Amino acid sequence: MKQFLKGLPKVELHAHLNGSLGVDSLRDLAERLYGSAPEKLLELCFIRCEKDLDACFETFKFVHELTATAEGLRYATELAVRDFAQDNVQYVELRTTPKANAHYSRRDYLEIVIEAIIEARKKYPDILVKLLPSINRAEPVDVAEETVSLAVELAQSYPHLILGIDLSGNPAKGRFSDFAPIISKAREMGLKLVIHCAEIKNPSEVQEMLEFGMSRCGHGSFLTQKEIELLKQRNIPIECCLTSNVKSGTVSSLEEHHLKRIMEANAPKVICTDDSGVFDTTLTQEFLLATETFGLTRRQCVDLTLEAVHHSFATDQERKKMAERVENYAASLQK
Ligand code: 5GP
Repeated sequence: MKQFLKGLPKVELHAHLNGSLGVDSLRDLAERLYGSAPEKLLELCFIRCEKDLDACFETFKFVHELTATAEGLRYATELAVRDFAQDNVQYVELRTTPKANAHYSRRDYLEIVIEAIIEARKKYPDILVKLLPSINRAEPVDVAEETVSLAVELAQSYPHLILGIDLSGNPAKGRFSDFAPIISKAREMGLKLVIHCAEIKNPSEVQEMLEFGMSRCGHGSFLTQKEIELLKQRNIPIECCLTSNVKSGTVSSLEEHHLKRIMEANAPKVICTDDSGVFDTTLTQEFLLATETFGLTRRQCVDLTLEAVHHSFATDQERKKMAERVENYAASLQK
């Protein structure tokens, strides 16, 4: 099964750039920047099974140190694309929060990532990469405003690259209602919305988010069955990230993962990594866990991949090509 899943031309729809660097990539990055990769630093970049969401958010700070210069950010972007390509991911929508520091502005940040993606695709032509700038809800609202206006502006120059806006960051911080008007502006300007929703228990906020609407729902761990049904009626997929949810403690075990309830309800879903680097996983591994835990067959894995193709923000033509790759792969194994 593992070999089958590795070869499957997979589709990744929920991946945070700074969380998506595997250990070899973190080592390569540290060596490029500092001449060596201290093991202590590498250890700090990984989230053990701490079952503490706040602690997970602290971990990102160590990775962020490695991407705090233009060179670090550029190389990290290339490495993230490399890691997905090596896992035979044929399409990835990378999300990332534009940051500002002494080395770059938020505009620079996005421009560096865009250029790095364009360059990386020359090295890894079999993977299609899109970008979703993220709003960090733990940051002030005016930062979100800047992110949205940059995303809207850059989407005009790179319409096939910047496709939407993500709302993420520590769900215990910030209020959705404060960000809703800004995100709404992004939607009016034609950007898709992916929203981390029901990641922790907060029924009133979930209600607000569902009323507001979104193109895809991030995590959804605390959705009630009624809310899952509502998403099904609206054809909004839930981005399920098994290892991330278990390691960060928002789901108690793989067996208890809400993917099971979602599948039983036959509601739209996609399997994603979230942060393949810091959670030490791959998309292949996430599918493998789903097969081992819920008994998915190979055909179900193919169908889940086709579902991800369908819910991606790629063009019709791109989606057609991706679906063909998946079907051809499945057919080649039956011969
Ligand atoms: P970056 O935006 O720096 O490329 O990726 C890391 C950031 O993505 C984190 O600092 C955090 O704001 C966001 N992020 C990564 N994983 C998660 C997650 O599981 N839940 C939420 N809500 N935000 C996340």
